[in-house]
Amino acid sequence: MIIVMKTDLRPESPEVARVVRIAESYPEIRTEVRKIQGATRVLTEVYLLGPTAAVPQEPFDECEGVEKVIRIREKYRAIARHEGQAVAIGFEYNGVRFGQDSFHVFAGLCAVDTRESVEEMFRALQRVGLETTRAGAYKPRTSPYDFQGRGKACLPYVFELAGRYGIKVIAMEILTESHLNEIRNGLREAGNPTGVMLQIGTRNAQNFELLKAVGQQDEFPVLFKRGFGITLEESLNACEYVASSGNHRVVFCLRGMKTSLGEPHRHLVDFGHVPVVKRLTRLPVCVDPSHSVGKRVAAPDGLLDIHHVTAQGIIAGANMVLVDFHPRPDEALCDGPQALTLDELEHFVADTRLVRSAYEERIKLRERLPH
Ligand code: PEP
Ligand code: MN
Repeated sequence: MIIVMKTDLRPESPEVARVVRIAESYPEIRTEVRKIQGATRVLTEVYLLGPTAAVPQEPFDECEGVEKVIRIREKYRAIARHEGQAVAIGFEYNGVRFGQDSFHVFAGLCAVDTRESVEEMFRALQRVGLETTRAGAYKPRTSPYDFQGRGKACLPYVFELAGRYGIKVIAMEILTESHLNEIRNGLREAGNPTGVMLQIGTRNAQNFELLKAVGQQDEFPVLFKRGFGITLEESLNACEYVASSGNHRVVFCLRGMKTSLGEPHRHLVDFGHVPVVKRLTRLPVCVDPSHSVGKRVAAPDGLLDIHHVTAQGIIAGANMVLVDFHPRPDEALCDGPQALTLDELEHFVADTRLVRSAYEERIKLRERLPH
């Protein structure tokens, strides 16, 4: 059971203390009070843990300061919507708002290689008006003999250049908790010129200790990538580790599933799950067309499969696109075959905006016409 308090009632308020007192008067019931910092308001929720079936709803309904009482329907209780009963309030990070109604393109390098590439990439982003990017310093590679990423050595120039080119948020994968500390220190040493969204890669989707570590800090939001070989339900439960550890600033990313049935694409595109994740959870949803398609191939209409797949995610309501670019894909040290070039950035961004406005028109159409 979740007791949602009225807007802007803080965890330390007497109304919350009263709800906790009532809840804990029932046998074997424990409580956890969670504060969710939304983009425009604070939401305090009291979670009742234990045998809640025997706990009546009325004493809470009657309490001052209670907005509503939610009976839990899903195991992933903190991120779930519980059949629409919980709202998706979103969050703000470094001046950028993320929610189930926002839209951002994170175009950038799969892996940082040289300072020059980073600068060319960021300059191109500034030219097209993007303030969000991706830049991999730590790469989880299938083979130990492949390039493993520049690691912490690249952080000073990545952060410094981000500040110089007006980048506000960089999605950056971490593989272990020490990377989180390296990023934290790197940002501090650079004078915090930008922000980082910690990416949990598909290979670490069930690395529960890492999930707890990113959940126990609230300095950085988290981009959680769905596990490529597990069910959606398992990924949602894994993602719950982040939110249940305290960090509610999470974005859920679809990136294709591992199966030969997706061939000739690298993974089977799963963007039909965008509305599913928005319905089941309170989280903004990201799509990653690059790791889904995995290659540069064009349809007879001239558009790349990556463009088409991106459009499929956006037309279904995706809130974020994570996409690989590189100034010279032939020289990229990781995932060059799926990277678009900087010359293609302007068109890519314009195409995403076109599709996003079509999505917004679809919502208006639905409101206007009987359905
Ligand atoms: C990536 O985004 O660079 C990456 C490794 O993605 P995934 O974890 O989805 O394979
Ligand atoms: Mn990659």
